[in-house]
Amino acid sequence: MAAVKGKDTKPEMIVRRYLFSRGLRYRVNNRKLPGSPDIVLKKYKTVVFIDGCFWHGHEGCKYYRLPKTNVDFWRHKIAMNIARDYANGVYLRLVGWRVIRVWECEIKTKTKREETLESLYQEIVGTEHKSNAYESTAEVSPIAAEPRSSYGDRKI
Ligand SMILES: [Zn+2]
Repeated sequence: MAAVKGKDTKPEMIVRRYLFSRGLRYRVNNRKLPGSPDIVLKKYKTVVFIDGCFWHGHEGCKYYRLPKTNVDFWRHKIAMNIARDYANGVYLRLVGWRVIRVWECEIKTKTKREETLESLYQEIVGTEHKSNAYESTAEVSPIAAEPRSSYGDRKI
């Protein structure tokens, strides 16, 4: 995954700096959690992923365009990433984390960036994050029923 998620890629830094400036404190790249979330806000039981539109297959996004050559290779590779992201999200929610994903394209332009960051902040600190673990569990129960050991090597 190292090639997929550079450690201090720019979009992540933008989000981190912003949240820090709003007074939030967090850990970064927590490898103990599935998917090594980019930002972990323990106090709010929230993890944030800042995902590149290409690598994580942002559907309908103009930044997600497959290269003209080796199409099958790329399609497969990105499908694997999407599946992994999904599985990570499911697992994190099951163990009580709120999972927020920010797409790179959402912080690319200045206007959109401010909007995105502000609403991200509101989503983190705002309101009732009372354990909605129940809802999430209901939502994902088919997958949650899989044995834990199959995590990480799911085939698509
Ligand atoms: Zn995008």
